[in-house]
Amino acid sequence: MDNAAERLDIIRTRIERARRRFGPPPETVTLVAVSKTFPAAAIVPFLEAGQRVFGENRVQEAEAKWPGLRTSYDGIELHLIGPLQSNKAREAVALFDVIETVDRDKIAGALKAEMVRQGRTPRLLVQVNIGLEPQKAGIAPAEAVAFVARCRDVHGLTIDGLMAIPPDGVPPGPYFAQLAILAREAGVALLSMGMSGDFETAIAMGATHVRVGSALFGHRG
Ligand SMILES: *Cc1c(COP(=O)(O)O)cnc(C)c1O
Repeated sequence: MDNAAERLDIIRTRIERARRRFGPPPETVTLVAVSKTFPAAAIVPFLEAGQRVFGENRVQEAEAKWPGLRTSYDGIELHLIGPLQSNKAREAVALFDVIETVDRDKIAGALKAEMVRQGRTPRLLVQVNIGLEPQKAGIAPAEAVAFVARCRDVHGLTIDGLMAIPPDGVPPGPYFAQLAILAREAGVALLSMGMSGDFETAIAMGATHVRVGSALFGHRG
């Protein structure tokens, strides 16, 4: 990692330029720095440069890295962006501030039980399998609005937004646009979409959160 501050500055500038060019809305775009696979030592320069919002895709890996980093840096906001098993709900609620991958009733119920038990209320997003890809997690687009309502009415959860990962190898714009429409229909404000290769397109379509990994940390081994 040569210069974390410089990379952060470049990405933040691109985010702000896209936001001004295409928006507002959104009024602000939050950069979620995706630190998965990188050790704590590689994350420290980004914390030193002022970044506070990070994304991890595995509960166990995050548990190994973040409690230690949190003892040294205030104000960290940690997002779970990878699939969640219901037997990991306890650890996920204890560790994460935002869980972006709620995608089925079993998880919603397990999260609610843990939130009550621990007295913690991480913000929740529903993951939508926007390209209906069998290998990807997420609720089907046609079921997303009803699932958000069920999270609220059946499980007693507040859902703040939607998250999606569009298919590889095709233009992502239409998928981002569809996610934005679903969020409007579901009555939720946050839209987590866009990664290193396409975050400006996502911002054009209304992303409030972009999840950027390799453009900040370099390629994952
Ligand atoms: C790894 C990952 C990212 C970051 O991808 P990059 O292309 O490295 O920016 C974003 N979102 C999710 C869900 C991921 O798993």
